[in-house]
Amino acid sequence: MAVIDCDVHQGNGTASILRGDDSVFTFSLHGARNFPFVKEEGDLDIELADGTGDDEYLAQLERGLEETLARARPQLAIYLAGADPHEGDRLGRLRLTQDGLARRDAMVLGMLHARAIPVAIAMAGGYGHDPEDTVAIHAATILAARRLLG
Ligand SMILES: [Zn+2]
Repeated sequence: MAVIDCDVHQGNGTASILRGDDSVFTFSLHGARNFPFVKEEGDLDIELADGTGDDEYLAQLERGLEETLARARPQLAIYLAGADPHEGDRLGRLRLTQDGLARRDAMVLGMLHARAIPVAIAMAGGYGHDPEDTVAIHAATILAARRLLG
């Protein structure tokens, strides 16, 4: 199994709980300067600088997903689709647009779908200055998954 954690905060609890468990691969893509300030060590951690935008984020995500799928060969994935990498988030330090987050969802879900890997989606964090943004981002994730089901 693989955990694909795209919440802006590192999946430190997941990494801590599953350390030494070879049956679960933990991948976290997160803000280097976001909480937790002392990171746990997951199987794959990619840290992003403050202000990282769509293109750099998506390039790092693609690299991380390819490594995760190659190393873990998962039969199941859990995708934490945080809304807090959004540029309008009160806690996140990244600068993704809603379009960038939609491309993130499409990349994660598309790569899993292409390999026929089932996925469970958890909405994870979101603290928008405008709560409507947070709702829209989470809703877009669910709609992206639904579109893949046909
Ligand atoms: Zn978060």
